[in-house]
Amino acid sequence: MTGTRGGGRRTSTCSFCGKNQRDAGPMVEGPKDVYICKSCVELCHNIIRQETKKASTAKSQVGTIPKPSQIKKFLDQYVIGQEGPKKALSVVVHNHYKRIQHTDNAGKNDVELDKSNVLLVGPTGCGKTLLARSLARTLNVPFAIGDATTLTEAGYVGEDVENILLRLLQTADFDIESAQRGIIYIDEIDKIGRTSQNVSITRDVSGEGVQQALLKMLEGTTANIPPQGGRKHPEQQYIQIDTTNILFICGGTFVGLEDIIRRRIGQSAIGFSNEDGEHDEHTRDGEVLAQAIPDDLVAYGMIPELVGRLPLLTTLEPLDTSALVRIMTEPKNALVRQQKRFFEFEDAELEFTDGALEAIAEIAKQRDTGARALRAVLEELMLDPMYRLPDRNAGGRYLVTERVVRGLDELKPTRTRHRRESA
Ligand code: ADP
Repeated sequence: MTGTRGGGRRTSTCSFCGKNQRDAGPMVEGPKDVYICKSCVELCHNIIRQETKKASTAKSQVGTIPKPSQIKKFLDQYVIGQEGPKKALSVVVHNHYKRIQHTDNAGKNDVELDKSNVLLVGPTGCGKTLLARSLARTLNVPFAIGDATTLTEAGYVGEDVENILLRLLQTADFDIESAQRGIIYIDEIDKIGRTSQNVSITRDVSGEGVQQALLKMLEGTTANIPPQGGRKHPEQQYIQIDTTNILFICGGTFVGLEDIIRRRIGQSAIGFSNEDGEHDEHTRDGEVLAQAIPDDLVAYGMIPELVGRLPLLTTLEPLDTSALVRIMTEPKNALVRQQKRFFEFEDAELEFTDGALEAIAEIAKQRDTGARALRAVLEELMLDPMYRLPDRNAGGRYLVTERVVRGLDELKPTRTRHRRESA
């Protein structure tokens, strides 16, 4: 670069876009009569920025694939319990990205490695979505969530499937390469089964059309995405996304699947009924569900092809009260930690006794929405104290006991810490 040319004597043209100086404004002059205008400088800057970003994302995605043990360790920070699913997912995800790396390396296609999409079966609120989300976070890949019940029969050319891909593309900041290596979680996959009692699917009573549509995506298809909000692609009508390397994790509660499993293996082999022949809700599900095999899912109403595309079937356990206590206290963003922080903001201290935590967990468990109920129970409990807190003297210490949780005592400050103005 040798300098700029403003209103010089000679009219130059931009060597990149061909516009002359009158239209393009001042230009930067390079050696041998080369010029570049302002908009081409900006364009070049954007191209270089995108390429640099692409290179670094590609490096982080396939250059350094964490080992299964590293993935599991990362998941442990967010997901409590569910040891089996965490381990299985760590291996599958490690292999998935190894497979992409393998296919990327030209000339190494001697062995065809199949994609291993995942099916998570387990009760509501036990961590299925959390697992999928945490995996994407571990690998620093784009992540999107879709709901199978909203998919239309029109299928892979239909609006809804594209919407999931569009969301993935948006989280990838419209970097197509990156989106094509992302993770998509599809919830409520069980609700589109043929024998499903879900009445909300009026467009496709059999559920098969939706499953076929999903199958296409899982197998790998090139979908056309309208670039809504994609100002970066004004010249394109559609953005094409190849779903071949996208990892799909599907989740469902599969209510009633235990009955199918039980019929297959024989009721007596399990013996979860009590003397009256009733099932014990809390011990039954997890242990029976853990014995699920793909045939059970077909019997449940899933089409065999779709089940075949979800080779890793892993079951999550219902969360017991001790797991719920751990969820409230251990993860980085644990609810109890968050509540304590709010009290700190008001220069107060908040503590929970073990009995209080167990009581909260018990109340939450009765709501049958897994860990999801914890937030609601805790917020209901803390609403009143939080409301009053800013009006009280700073420095109070609040101890939440089991009696407070059960509504037998009011949560009041037990002592006032030494305050500066009284000194
Ligand atoms: P689902 O199994 O219905 O997909 P989610 O993963 O959405 O359940 O869980 C709902 C919320 O409950 C999560 O955001 C998380 O805060 C909490 N949660 C559920 N299971 C766990 C778990 N195993 N470990 C930690 N938190 C959990």
